[in-house]
Amino acid sequence: MVTDKKKEYFKDFLNERLDTLLNEANKTVTGMVDQGDNFPDPTDRASLESDRNFTLRIRDRERKLIVKIKEALERIDNGTYGICDECGEDISEQRLKARPVTTLCIDCKKKQESEEKLKGL
Ligand SMILES: [Zn+2]
Repeated sequence: MVTDKKKEYFKDFLNERLDTLLNEANKTVTGMVDQGDNFPDPTDRASLESDRNFTLRIRDRERKLIVKIKEALERIDNGTYGICDECGEDISEQRLKARPVTTLCIDCKKKQESEEKLKGL
């Protein structure tokens, strides 16, 4: 069972992470606008476009992480945080610290990964 003290710890941790991600996302958007004004040359434009694709890919990953963090915060509020989605067992604190947005205990995660590998073959 995740104690209230631990809940607070992970809540702070996740909120901080969320703030950082949202700040980064804002910076990315602002940076894209600035770069557009500074590189009128067509050659530079081409590299700017690939930079932009790169940035968008990063942002896609960030967006997914933001969603996961918000879900984790919801789970803290409704008391299901730190409980494995698959088997209902507690997820170890060590694992939560390494991957605070996880919804699976290490055993179920390993099982899932090996099943995914089997499907891939
Ligand atoms: Zn499990």
